[in-house]
Amino acid sequence: MLVDFRNEPLTDFRDPENRRRMREALDQVRRSFGRDYPLRMDGRDRITGDWISSFDPSRPGVVIGRVAAATREAAEEAVRGALRAFESWSRVRPEERARYLFKAAALMRRRRLELAAWLCFEVGKTWAEADADVAEAIDFLEFYGREMIRLAGPQPLTRIQGEDNELEYLPLGVGVVISPWNFPLAILTGMTVSAVVAGNAVVVKPASASPVIAAHFVRLMEEAGIPPGVIQYVPGRGGEIGDFLVSHPQVRFISFTGSRDIGVRIFELAAKVRPGQKWLKRVIAEMGGKDAIIVDSDADLDEAAAGIVTSAFGFAGQKCSACSRVIALADVYEPLLERVAGLAESLKVAPADDEEASYGPVVDRAAYDKVLQYIEVGKREGKLVTGGEPAGGEGFFIRPTIFRDVPSEARIAQEEIFGPVVAFLRAENFDEAIRIANDTEYGLTGGVYSRNRAHLERARRDFHVGNLYFNRKITGALVGVHPFGGFRMSGTDSKAGGRDYLLLLTQAKVVSERF
Ligand code: NAP
Repeated sequence: MLVDFRNEPLTDFRDPENRRRMREALDQVRRSFGRDYPLRMDGRDRITGDWISSFDPSRPGVVIGRVAAATREAAEEAVRGALRAFESWSRVRPEERARYLFKAAALMRRRRLELAAWLCFEVGKTWAEADADVAEAIDFLEFYGREMIRLAGPQPLTRIQGEDNELEYLPLGVGVVISPWNFPLAILTGMTVSAVVAGNAVVVKPASASPVIAAHFVRLMEEAGIPPGVIQYVPGRGGEIGDFLVSHPQVRFISFTGSRDIGVRIFELAAKVRPGQKWLKRVIAEMGGKDAIIVDSDADLDEAAAGIVTSAFGFAGQKCSACSRVIALADVYEPLLERVAGLAESLKVAPADDEEASYGPVVDRAAYDKVLQYIEVGKREGKLVTGGEPAGGEGFFIRPTIFRDVPSEARIAQEEIFGPVVAFLRAENFDEAIRIANDTEYGLTGGVYSRNRAHLERARRDFHVGNLYFNRKITGALVGVHPFGGFRMSGTDSKAGGRDYLLLLTQAKVVSERF
C-alpha cells in the first residue's frame, strides 16, 4: 500500500553534517571528471567517434565528461529499438510500470547529494538550487507513478442498463524527449518518466550543455530495472539530429522543453505528415517566459524586494519562471527600486560549488555573450541602476543587473534574456500594471504583491499566465502543489506535475459490450 504523495523535503544546508556530506559529494564527483559516456541503446553502450564535451561553467577549462554524439544512423537505430521495446513495455501492467519509478526514486534519494554535486559542476547550480533540482526529480517519479495507478483504475462514465462500458488509457507509441539544460535532472526526469509510466518508449535527447547528468539518470533508470530499449539515451546536437527525430514517421509524439524558437520549429516540423506515417503527431511544448511581478501601492516593500531578488537572480535568472520585469506602481517605484538594488548588490556571484555563492555562472559562452549583448541593448533602452558587466573570475559570471525606466515595448521588456537582468517598468495605476504585464507574447508565470483584495481579484481574473503567485516569489513550483506550464508562446498549455499531464501521453479507448 502506497502512502499519499508528499513533496521531497529539501536538504537543510545550515546543518553542519549536511554541509560536510555535500563537500564530500563534491570531492567524490570531482574525482570522476573526465570520463566518457557512450550512447545507451537497447541496454548497450554505443560510441560514434564524435564526442560532446561538457564543461564546468564556473571553470570553463575543466571538462567534467564527454558523451558520444549521436549520428542520424544512431538516431534511426534508437527509434527502431524503441519501437521493439514498445511492443512488450506497452503490455506491462500500469501498476508494475509505476514500481520502476518508485524504485528509481529510492535510488535517487540514496544518491541525492552526489547527483546535486554533478549539477553544481555541469550547469553551475548552487548547493540549494542543485538539491532542489534533485528533489523535484524524485517528486516527478513519485507523483507520476501514483498518477498512472489512478488512471489505470475504473474511470467515471455514465452507466446504462444492459451494457458494460469501460474506458482505458493506452500508451501512444514511441516518443522523443528533448530537454533543456536549466533543470537538467528534474525536467529530464519528469518528461521521460511521465511518458514511460504511461507505457510509451522514448528516445531521449538531452541538451548539449548537460548530457552527463542525463547519462547518470539513464543509468539509474536501468539500475531500477527499466527494460532495454524503453529509454534510449541519444545525446547529440539539436541542429544535427533534432529535425531528424522530430520528422521521423514512426515517432508518435514529441515532448519538448526549451526556447520559444526551437519549440515553434518543432511544432511546424511535426505537423507535416510524412510517407508511411499513420497518425498526427502530438507535440507537448513547454517554452520560454517574460515573467513580471507587479508591486502595488500598498504592498509590503521589504517582502516584495526579497521576492523579486530571489525570483530574478536565483540560478542567475536562468529559469523559465524567473522574474525579468518588475512593474511598480508610481508611488512605490523609487523606494522599491532602492530596496531591490540594495539586495542585488549584496549577492555573492561565485563558483557554484562555493557554499556561500548566491548564484554562479551562466551556463556557457554563448549564454554569456547573449546576456552581455542584451545588457548593451538595455543601456540604450533604459537607465542602468546596478550591474551591467561581468562579475570577474574565469567563469561565465555576470553581475546582477537592473535597468529602470524601461518602456514596455523595449526589447529587454519583451524578449527572454535568460540571465541575471531585470527591467523596472512604471505604471500609473493597477489597470495599467495589468495591461503592461500582459503585453508580451508569453504567459508563463507572474506575481502580484498587494494588500488590496479588489486588485488581487482583478489580477486573478485578468493577469493571463499559467502560474500566478500572490505575495510570494514566482519561482520554485512544487510538483502536485503548483502544476506548471504557461499560455500563449510559453507552451502548449500543459501542466507538468499536475493531474492532467499523463493524459497528454495516453489515448483513451472505450470498450462497450452487450451481454
Ligand atoms: P533550447 O536552446 O531551445 O534547447 C532545448 C533543447 O532543444 C535542447 O536539447 C536542444 O539541443 C534542442 N534543440 C536545439 N535545436 C533543435 C532542433 N532543431 N530540433 C530539435 N531539438 C533541438 O533551450 P535551452 O537553452 O536548453 O533551455 C532554455 C529555454 O527553455 C528557455 O527559453 C526557458 O524559458 C525554457 N524552459 C521552459 C520551461 C517551461 O516549463 N516552460 C522549463 C525550463 C526551460 P542542443 O542543446 O543540442 O542545442
